[in-house]
This record gives sequence, C-alpha cells and structure tokens, in this order.
Amino acid sequence: MPEGDLGWLIPWAPRGKDPQFRRRRDQIPAGSGAPRPDSAGPAVWVRGLRKNYGPVLAVRGIDLEIRRGQIVALLGPNGAGKTTTMEIIEGLRRPDAGEIKVLGTTPAQARRRVGVQLQEGALFADLTCTETLTLFGRLYGFEANPKTLLELVDLADVAERRTERLSGGQKRRLQLALTLCNDPELVILDEPTTGLDPLSRRQTWAMIRGLHDQGRTVLLTTHYIEEAEQLAVWVYIIDAGMVVAEGAPTTLITELGAAATLSVAGGRDAQLETLPGVLRAEYSEGRWELQGKEVGLILTALNQRLGEAALRDVSVRPPSLEDVFLARTGRHIATEPEA
Ligand code: ATP
Repeated sequence: MPEGDLGWLIPWAPRGKDPQFRRRRDQIPAGSGAPRPDSAGPAVWVRGLRKNYGPVLAVRGIDLEIRRGQIVALLGPNGAGKTTTMEIIEGLRRPDAGEIKVLGTTPAQARRRVGVQLQEGALFADLTCTETLTLFGRLYGFEANPKTLLELVDLADVAERRTERLSGGQKRRLQLALTLCNDPELVILDEPTTGLDPLSRRQTWAMIRGLHDQGRTVLLTTHYIEEAEQLAVWVYIIDAGMVVAEGAPTTLITELGAAATLSVAGGRDAQLETLPGVLRAEYSEGRWELQGKEVGLILTALNQRLGEAALRDVSVRPPSLEDVFLARTGRHIATEPEA
C-alpha cells in the first residue's frame, strides 16, 4: 500500500503494515503440492514500482508481495495499470523506478522458471495443438508432454487439430497449457478468462485451481469481481496505477462492516446517506448504493423517505469486492457483460 501517497485519503488504508494483518496473511495455506526445493521468500516482491508512458502515469508506486504457492489476483478496472505491472514482473518492460524480485532473483534471470499467458497471445495457425506445445517446450529447452498438458486443459480430443481451427475458448485453454511447457514455479495469467462464456470461464477457474494444487504460485489479473473472489486467497485492488486495498477477499469484505448492499432508484437530492442504518452511500446515474448492517431498518427508512413505490425497485445483495472498490474509490469496476 503506497501509504505515503494515499494514507491521508483512506482512513483504513495502511493495513499491510499492521503486524496482526501480516500474521493473518501468513496463516493462509499454500497449495497442497510438494514444496519446491528453494521455496524461501516470496515468489514476487515489488517495491515502489513506477512506469510512465509519456504523460500517462500508468503505475504510480505499487508494492506487492506474492507468497509462494498462493493464487493472488490484481483486480482493477481497464487501464488501472495491471498489465504494465505484470509485464515488468515478466521482464518484458523496464520500470522507471522500483525494485522487483521474482523467485528471489531478477525478472530476466527468473524467466525460465515462470510461465506467462499474455492478454493477447498469438498462435501459429498451421501447427496442431501437439506441435505447438512441443515447439514452445523446446524454445524453453524443455521436452514438454503435450498429451498430459492437453488433458489438463481439456483439449485432448483436438490434440491434432490446427490452431486456426480452434474456437476462441479452446485457443485460450491452449495458451494456458503453453504457460506450463517449462514446468514453471510461477504462473502469470493476464486476464485469463476475458471474452470466455460463463461455462469456459468456470472450466478455466478449475484449471487454475489445479495449478495451485500442484504447488505452483499463480499471479493473475482480472477485472471480474467474481473471478478474484472465487480464485484468489489474496487480492490487490488497483486503480489509477496504485494499490487502493489489499487483503484476503473475505477480510476486505468483512472490514466494510456491512451485511448488505441495497441499490435503489432515486434523485441525488434524496440524500439517502442520512438514512438510519446506512454506513456508506454512493450516488451514480439515478441510483443509490447503500451499505448497512440492518437491512430491515434501511428498508423502513426508505419507505418513509421515498414512499412505497420506491421499494418495488430495490435490490439487495451481499457485499462483495465491488463494494470494497466503491468504498475506496467512489466508483464501480466496470465489467463487461457475461459472454
Ligand atoms: P486492461 O484491463 O484494459 O488491460 P490494465 O489495468 O492492464 O488495463 P494497462 O494496460 O497497464 O492497464 O494500462 C495502464 C495505462 O497505461 C492506461 O492508461 C493505458 O492506456 C496506458 N498504456 C498501456 N500501455 C501503453 C503503451 N504501450 N503506450 C502508451 N500508453 C500505454
């Protein structure tokens, strides 16, 4: 957490420096796979990372610590700086400032021990799935086992199909298998499920959990709230090039102190932030988002303030990382509709 930049803005921000908070993080179990021989220290350690593209301040002082054997997500809206951060960790981009350690060494030296799925990876159209995996393995100096890898990503039945004839979802799964060609300790996935239909997305989640079960560390980016909640034991919420919150998803949500989020239509002048029971209120485009502990109390107050008709358009849902993002930034993470 870039405390120097943001601490004064966000009253409960500098959690990462709280020793009790750190202890809770240490208690999160790693994957059940066999521990790797040199598994001391974090898989990824980043301090004070900065990167500008001309006038664009893409990354503005990011700190990360990715524990070995855990699935960790960088969650944030489009343009938050996730890909830039990942590309620096992968050794594909040079930072303007900051320190980076990957598997205890520099990104360049760690590269052979890291598997990377880029956001837009290209495949050789004329090669079959098996040929593609064999080729990529040899590029790393590994003799990959295409059969096992294709089974892992549920592509065994199209093993001899040329990649140009794969569906979009199959191509993404093959790209996932390609990240494993070099038997990596750390797997970095940049938006692994963007553009996938809900079923393929869930299948990909199962595969990512499989990597964790094998004892690998997984670092992924996503702008899907549910993906981060489902997969990650630790989440860094990133906005405008900075970490605005970090923690275990359930902890971050619990720390909101709200039992539910209510969404209700109404004008800004309704001033619903003053309703009894409301802990936090945001207004955007004709709707209020209200967080509170006692839903009944808020509904009764809404009835009195806006009238019974307003209650027909109220939705109530449990709080999520979306609410954490909203509380920290005052905005929603815009997600594309399910494919
Ligand atoms: P997305 O989810 O859309 O991929 P992101 O969180 O990964 O977004 P980045 O791709 O790191 O964010 O982009 C951060 C900022 O830097 C954005 O404003 C983006 O437009 C800008 N940016 C990224 N790459 C370049 C580049 N090569 N040249 C100039 N600006 C760039």
